[in-house]
Amino acid sequence: MSTGESPSEDEVFLEIKNLHLDFSVYQGTVQVLDGIELSMKRGEIFGVVGETGCGKTVTTRSIVRLLESNAVIDEGTITFMGSENLLKIPEDEMAKIRGRKISIIFQEPMTSLNPTMRIADQVGEGILLHFRDDMLKKGIELAEKRGSPLAGLHKRLLETELKSPNSILLKLARRIPFINGYNKYPRNASRIDSVEILRDVGMPSPERIAMEYPHELSGGMRQRVLIAIALACQPDLIIADEPTTAVDVTTQAKILNLLLKLREERGTSILVITHNLGLIAEICDRVCVMYAGQIAEIGDVVDIFNHPLHPYTRGLMRAIHNIGDNKELEEIPGNVPILLTPPSGCRFHPRCPRVMKICSEKRPTLQEMETGHKVHCWLYQEEDA
Ligand code: SF4
Repeated sequence: MSTGESPSEDEVFLEIKNLHLDFSVYQGTVQVLDGIELSMKRGEIFGVVGETGCGKTVTTRSIVRLLESNAVIDEGTITFMGSENLLKIPEDEMAKIRGRKISIIFQEPMTSLNPTMRIADQVGEGILLHFRDDMLKKGIELAEKRGSPLAGLHKRLLETELKSPNSILLKLARRIPFINGYNKYPRNASRIDSVEILRDVGMPSPERIAMEYPHELSGGMRQRVLIAIALACQPDLIIADEPTTAVDVTTQAKILNLLLKLREERGTSILVITHNLGLIAEICDRVCVMYAGQIAEIGDVVDIFNHPLHPYTRGLMRAIHNIGDNKELEEIPGNVPILLTPPSGCRFHPRCPRVMKICSEKRPTLQEMETGHKVHCWLYQEEDA
């Protein structure tokens, strides 16, 4: 269980530093991220919260470099488990990290699943991709036990990779496990693993569900399938993008319990993206509040809920309804800015009730107030700091 303090240098597991990202569009440049800084430690559940369009999903997609083709990263570094800057490593190295070390639970279960593939094959796809050799070895063992000639074929495929990693034969070999009925041992092995993973995520009758297609499942079941896909390769970090938006309240509770169980049993770190403060309060250790592509505040969840410092976070807290409260909810006046022409300085200044002259002139830096509680606001900073 995390202590809720920000990680020391030795504890840093994931670190994003000074990330600036733009989208190039017909009308000009949308300045989506403006100097994002955050870090996580192993085993932590970290929340990123903010309104739609504040840049939380883009921030987390940058980690695995799953960005639209018009995205331009101008500046910044992302390091993970002591790696080099993930933004600079070659694509083939990144492909080994995606799904294997970092995986994503996407927010739309219906559109994220392939409607033409059985559930077992979708859950097992990552396993085939990242553990092909292990699967082939399993296949050899099975084939030898049965005296099948496929043992020889599997051995040849394994040797091919060892001798010449870029050969045409190998490229062909990589496709073979996906051809139904030919290299069937690896495929079957991945299906067996898929059933086990579906069982782990609490899917009822996993053997039957494994052989069904997405349209045959309910919304909650499809969400579980997405979690199963994310878990398949036992990643070190799971990014859960609005994991409960598309499901009903009882399924939400089950999914949250599942994420907590994951961290408890496997020590998996989880980065949760949401606009739902209730979800953050329920499962996260620390939280980062984002506004219009900038970080407003980062800290321990209890600290931020009890003592929000940034005027935007305070506004968010006043807009939550608590059971038994008779007070009227307060809205934050004004609208989220258009990031083609973002406000200068602190991007919250056109809506801020505490705005000062300097707020529109200069961007505040991140100030650490108490252990781990950091805020981006001129109210807590000297002008020449
Ligand atoms: Fe408000 Fe200024 Fe603080 Fe921005 S920097 S939140 S405008 S007081």
